[in-house]
Amino acid sequence: MIEFINLKEQYRCLQNEIDSNIQAVLQHGKYILGPEVKELEQQLAEYTGVKHAISCANGTDALLMPLMAWGVGSGDAVFTTPFTFVATAEVISLLGATPVFVDIDPETYNIDVKKLEQSVKRVINERKLNPKAIIPVDLFGLPADYDAIMQVARKYGLKVLEDAAQSFGSVYKQKKAGSLADAAATSFFPAKPLGCYGDGGAVFTDEDELAEKLFSIRVHGQGQDKYENVRIGINGRLDTIQAAILLVKLKVFDEELRARNQIALKYTLGLKNVLKTPSIPDGLVSSWAQYSILAEEPEKRELIRETLKKAGIPTAIYYPVPLHLQQVFHKLGYKEGDFPISEDVSRRIFSLPMHPYLKDETIEEIIKVIQC
Ligand SMILES: *Cc1c(COP(=O)(O)O)cnc(C)c1O
Repeated sequence: MIEFINLKEQYRCLQNEIDSNIQAVLQHGKYILGPEVKELEQQLAEYTGVKHAISCANGTDALLMPLMAWGVGSGDAVFTTPFTFVATAEVISLLGATPVFVDIDPETYNIDVKKLEQSVKRVINERKLNPKAIIPVDLFGLPADYDAIMQVARKYGLKVLEDAAQSFGSVYKQKKAGSLADAAATSFFPAKPLGCYGDGGAVFTDEDELAEKLFSIRVHGQGQDKYENVRIGINGRLDTIQAAILLVKLKVFDEELRARNQIALKYTLGLKNVLKTPSIPDGLVSSWAQYSILAEEPEKRELIRETLKKAGIPTAIYYPVPLHLQQVFHKLGYKEGDFPISEDVSRRIFSLPMHPYLKDETIEEIIKVIQC
């Protein structure tokens, strides 16, 4: 059977070390914020090239916490794309702020920076909302265009939070994802490029003051002492066992990234004449959370997926409905046609099996089925 993501194979390869790391936690008994958590945070910060990594309970909390630290709330506008996982926009609404959607670039599927600036200007002119922050998403593992994004952000005095939930390990002009904005959020959900065996996440930043606030928010807004509460926070800690597992996986992570890139290259060589394969701008390296391709038209997509399914090859659609058309965001007042690129892509895109343990003959088989 061909798996969309094969986590069991990775466990088979790392079993001895993972089992012994879990055992060590069970033995020392520091299940919450144990030594493995600090160790992981140091290694994550070093890997990413930032001063501070603050581990947390999941990628959604990793997005939520910096917005809380910046005081994002009612009356604030936060700009992001509608072509992402719901969590990106959900955290904005959760704080009472307003998500302002901006369409994506048709080549990278990441936020279109020209449209971003137009949108910021429009919000300023309307005088209803206070433009506060931007959450670019590094979709499918490919970093957004941060040089251009940071320029717009500085011009209008906006904070930038990188949604690196899918892009841990990816590179933008020699810098790692997680280091590309004022703060970044990643996820260790099992299916992400670096995944644990439950929920997990981390926030990255170079700013000392922000890091201090994030450590406090992570534990109910605590002050110097556990029972001194200085701000509203959450229960957002990463379990020690998950940190112990991630420490093992981090050691082989670069090797896995190389494998993912080789697999993506093979897919692209085999498919670029049949379908629209991913385009990776110069100087960028994707972490290939997903390998996503575009069919010429929606009917063609269903036909290819059906053929693949019959051959025992699973596919997935990220994302079938852009967020501005989801019921939950109905009250924002968007309608069909507002973000034509996101809408068009959502009707034609689909993803192929992608994990570092995918075998050559499986890749060839998948390519052959699609070529027919
Ligand atoms: C997975 C994901 C999240 C949320 O991460 P969780 O760990 O599942 O909370 C946020 N944004 C994007 C783009 C994601 O893919």
